[in-house]
Amino acid sequence: MKTVFEALKWASSYLAEAGRDRNAAEILLANQLKMERSKLLASFHDVMHDRDLFAFQKAVERHRSGVPVQYITGKEQFYGREFAVNEHVLIPRPETEEVVEAVLSEIDRVFPGAEPLSAVDIGTGSGAIAVTLALESKRLSVCATDISTEALATASANAERLGADVEFVSGDLLQPLMRENKKGDVIVSNPPYISVEEMQSLSDVVRLHEPVGALTDGADGLRFYKRFMEELPEVIADQALVVFEIGWTQGGALRDMFRRFFPNSEVQVKKDINGKDRIVCAVIGQNG
Ligand code: SAM
Ligand code: GLN
Repeated sequence: MKTVFEALKWASSYLAEAGRDRNAAEILLANQLKMERSKLLASFHDVMHDRDLFAFQKAVERHRSGVPVQYITGKEQFYGREFAVNEHVLIPRPETEEVVEAVLSEIDRVFPGAEPLSAVDIGTGSGAIAVTLALESKRLSVCATDISTEALATASANAERLGADVEFVSGDLLQPLMRENKKGDVIVSNPPYISVEEMQSLSDVVRLHEPVGALTDGADGLRFYKRFMEELPEVIADQALVVFEIGWTQGGALRDMFRRFFPNSEVQVKKDINGKDRIVCAVIGQNG
């Protein structure tokens, strides 16, 4: 027999021993008991049912062995909404909420007025960016792509559950747009940007459990941006807003790439809440 408090105490120290975050215990227990955190704290003296205790112990073991908490609970919050996640998609990060914010503020500046705009999210993963944009802006008609069909299935289920109108297309980078001769006013992407070397320094929770093809480009971390530079002219209207999430060391490289490929573009590198370069916004035209 164990109370909620005892189960939590056991799990916190068991996880901390293995170098995991203690708070994970609370998240896993609240998930198992289908309770909000506040309710969990008010239930400390309740005795746990064997079935719940057993399932909770199993979840704690999984996280101790490195499985991200979000893959165990099957969900993550993004921009105030709950997204389903699984091992086929990157767990959406708080930095990426700032990418969405950048798109929303830049569209008003770059395209003043109220005319409808088409936006494309390349490499949508869980659908976090595309779904959020569709729900936050009435002006945007949103299309999302991924090379992983499992990711697309996850993203489209998220769109449906959250009531977002997003069109999903599968394919390699901008190929799906080129294939259908589609043009975008807004191109947004959080592509895999971790270099092969940097992969080694990631925590095992990320490195061994999130999809490799969502994290690294298998090269220097800049491979997808270089491809974008070459392919973008084929998929943009007269003027386009391009917003990329980038690694914190990549700001200078991205600025240089835009200058070289689109000499007339206006480029800004923005920092995330941790003060690190994280977002590039560029206004480009077909002729640079
Ligand atoms: N947009 C999501 C987010 O911000 O949470 C996921 C971003 S994750 C860093 C990169 C995504 O790009 C993955 O879902 C991966 O499957 C996809 N991807 C990788 N290579 C691709 C390619 N060549 N063409 C299209 N998508 C690709
Ligand atoms: N931000 C992710 C991480 O820190 C990486 C996402 C990406 O490569 N686009 O693991």
